[in-house]
Amino acid sequence: MKFYNSLSKNLEVFITDNTVKIYSCGPTVYDYAHIGNMRTFLFEDLLIRTLKYFSYPVKHVRNLTDIDDKTINKSQEQKTSLKDFTEKYAKEFFKDLAQLNFDETSTTYLRATEYIDPMINLIEELIEKSFAYDKGDGVYFKTSSFKEYGNFAGLDLENLQEGAAGVEGDYQKEDFGDFVLWKKYKESDGDVFWDSPWGKGRPGWHTECAAMVRNSFLEGLDIHTGGIDLLFPHHTNEKAHCECLSHQPMATYWLHATHLLVDNKKMSKSLGNFYTIRDLLDKGFDHRNIRFYLQTGAHYRSPLNFTLEGLKGTTSALKRLDNFIYEISETPQEGDRYFLKEKFDNALQEDLNISAAMGEIFSLVNAYYGGKIFDTNAILLELKEIDKVLGVLKFPKENILDEETQKLFDLRVIARAEKNWAESDRLRDELLTHGVEVRDTKDATNIRKL
Ligand code: AMP
Ligand code: ZN
Repeated sequence: MKFYNSLSKNLEVFITDNTVKIYSCGPTVYDYAHIGNMRTFLFEDLLIRTLKYFSYPVKHVRNLTDIDDKTINKSQEQKTSLKDFTEKYAKEFFKDLAQLNFDETSTTYLRATEYIDPMINLIEELIEKSFAYDKGDGVYFKTSSFKEYGNFAGLDLENLQEGAAGVEGDYQKEDFGDFVLWKKYKESDGDVFWDSPWGKGRPGWHTECAAMVRNSFLEGLDIHTGGIDLLFPHHTNEKAHCECLSHQPMATYWLHATHLLVDNKKMSKSLGNFYTIRDLLDKGFDHRNIRFYLQTGAHYRSPLNFTLEGLKGTTSALKRLDNFIYEISETPQEGDRYFLKEKFDNALQEDLNISAAMGEIFSLVNAYYGGKIFDTNAILLELKEIDKVLGVLKFPKENILDEETQKLFDLRVIARAEKNWAESDRLRDELLTHGVEVRDTKDATNIRKL
């Protein structure tokens, strides 16, 4: 498997010794997630599903940014406590993910507000080792104290401009390039503050993720992910926190999804091209179509230009795929073995090239409708495997087999496709000992429970 690593700016062979440890920067829970956010989160779902599909165990952590300027300001506007306000959007976010069929079985969610102590400890350690200083309205990271700072994003530190490190101008740091770790309390923060050795206040965004990663992954990360806008300042600054202390890479691979555009423009409320999942449901699309479009519409590093027309087109493509699966389930054919999974897997292993992988499926569908005869039972089995990655296909016939007999049955389908009659007979007899009778007819294999 190969991934494009933003660190080396190269495609690299993926190497890991055991469980793949992944951290993803999660949503700021001050509003419903929009389809751009979802593109990045679905890229992460694709990454996790793919790793599991290729038998890697995965441990994934995603944070919820429930404390920052936006969550504070909006909760105050709505006269709601920060907790009630952010929980409402966290709940909506989880609902979106469930309806979009995310594989969440290896994911843990961390709320930034529940990790304030590790954040304070991290800042204390940075001050102690002279990487940070307490000045005026905050505690700041001194970027000039960490000589690798900025290599990741290719920054020219000499010429960094005001605001370049994502810090507002009214902050009293020593250098433009420094960034805030702890923001001291201001009247406008209302009742949102925590006590700290530097007086009451709250953590900066970069410190939040850095502390949560250190807290969850003592031995470092294999993969850190997010949207491309996070490379600088957020990931650059997270990385500086961890690496100046540990002298170890914070993550081996950094994977970034390119932004979703809408009608070839940045999505913004003022341009009227801003969509949440709900907006698309109101227009008559369903979660399956949205998932399929955002996850397979383009390679994660290519821009995806969202249009309603494009989403309609994908909806028809999915329908064609549904019809194909329905037909081969209801009226199976015997014919040449088509090695779909092998082609799909090869594409996926090249930096999750899902558009090429989908291209393989649609080539097969086109060949089938063009009159080619294939072994459709084998195709159906492979599509069931492939759907562990896609999470979007519909299979009409529910299985009457349990896990063990299903495995034997699957092996038999493959043996038959390869015309290995001896093995196929052996598996038929073995299935019989489990109380499952299989009978081959000219067009299909029928199964009966004895
Ligand atoms: P936020 O809720 O703003 O903290 O963003 C959550 C995730 O969505 C981050 O990984 C961002 O990089 C990503 N993101 C934000 N806007 C877009 C977009 N238009 N396209 C793709 N990803 C985005
Ligand atoms: Zn982060």
